[in-house]
Amino acid sequence: QNPHLPRAEVLVDTDALRHNIALLSGLAAASGAQTMAVVKADGYGHGALHVARTALEAGASWVGVCHLDEALALRAGGITAPIFSWLHVPDEDFAEAVSAGIDLSVSSPAALDGVLDAVHRTGATARIHLKIDTGLSRNGCAPQDWPDLVRAAAAAQCTGGVQVVGVWSHLACADEPGHPSIDAQAKRLTEAHAIAVDAGLRPIRHIANSAAVLSRPDLHFELVRTGIAMYGLNPMPPGFGGDELRPAMTFRARVALTKRIAEGDGVSYGLTWTAPRETTIALVPAGYADGVPRALSGRMEVLLGGRRRPVVGRVCMDQIMVDCGDDEVREGEEVVLFGPGTRGEPTATEWAETLGTIHYEIVTGMTRPRVTRTV
Ligand code: PLP
Repeated sequence: QNPHLPRAEVLVDTDALRHNIALLSGLAAASGAQTMAVVKADGYGHGALHVARTALEAGASWVGVCHLDEALALRAGGITAPIFSWLHVPDEDFAEAVSAGIDLSVSSPAALDGVLDAVHRTGATARIHLKIDTGLSRNGCAPQDWPDLVRAAAAAQCTGGVQVVGVWSHLACADEPGHPSIDAQAKRLTEAHAIAVDAGLRPIRHIANSAAVLSRPDLHFELVRTGIAMYGLNPMPPGFGGDELRPAMTFRARVALTKRIAEGDGVSYGLTWTAPRETTIALVPAGYADGVPRALSGRMEVLLGGRRRPVVGRVCMDQIMVDCGDDEVREGEEVVLFGPGTRGEPTATEWAETLGTIHYEIVTGMTRPRVTRTV
């Protein structure tokens, strides 16, 4: 028994985070690039502030998030390194972010106007990164509008109050080695950068995500933005690097109750599973409201008592039931739902494969405050 183990918790292995960050920032440094630790979505579920601090100690020198509130929370938490925030709504008020020295992505003249308005109101200088849409068709300036955006940004820099720090983009298929879009996107970034340089700007370039950090050193440029690999999850197909990465997240819980059920007894909603013989069922108090996808019903195992055992019947909102056969299982005992796989437990990657999704979605799906996070 482990009385200190919470009902259900995400356990973050900080040594694994450090190991992964050192590995990735080492690859970037070998190309002369700095590393941005991407900690959006609460550090992909691992805790944004903890991951940011760990990453900055282990070799990263930038932090990246999607939204302004994520950036401001990191600054308030004591992160003094550059923090880059890249997705904003049309009427976003940038004043607080500019005052806090957050690096902002700008994709349009309207966004630039919004930043300039904040500059005038605060008297602070805004650090901006112009985003070019090189082919992902998400945000970013369309190539035909790029010269106008660059001209406006260069004029704003000349007038004072704005510093154009970077020109950047995001890859669509970096996890598909050899995909022709990778080179096409890199070429468009290089062209966009040249236009900025012609306009008198001296921005850095960044386009590489984890997959490109691992597989395309020629695309590291001056800065890379790494997320998933930092958490130890490999975005590349087998055989394309990243084998040394160590998954940092373990999702575990405690057995809440054990009971013997008779042959023929049904288990969980819909009674979709019936015991083929008398057996011991262990009730684990974590369900789909905690991040165990209901679609894993009948398709998942857990590590319990040193062995993998099947979860039987439907995943409920708050609990799952494990078939333990005739083995003795103690109430309060640890149950590992997924982890790095080193003890034989399932991994986040295995869940993702069963579900036909990506491991990104699994680790960002552990819901707080229901699930305690322990670092
Ligand atoms: N840069 C941007 C703009 C992103 O949206 C993301 C995440 O999706 C990343 C970098 C990091 O990507 P990855 O987690 O694949 O390293």
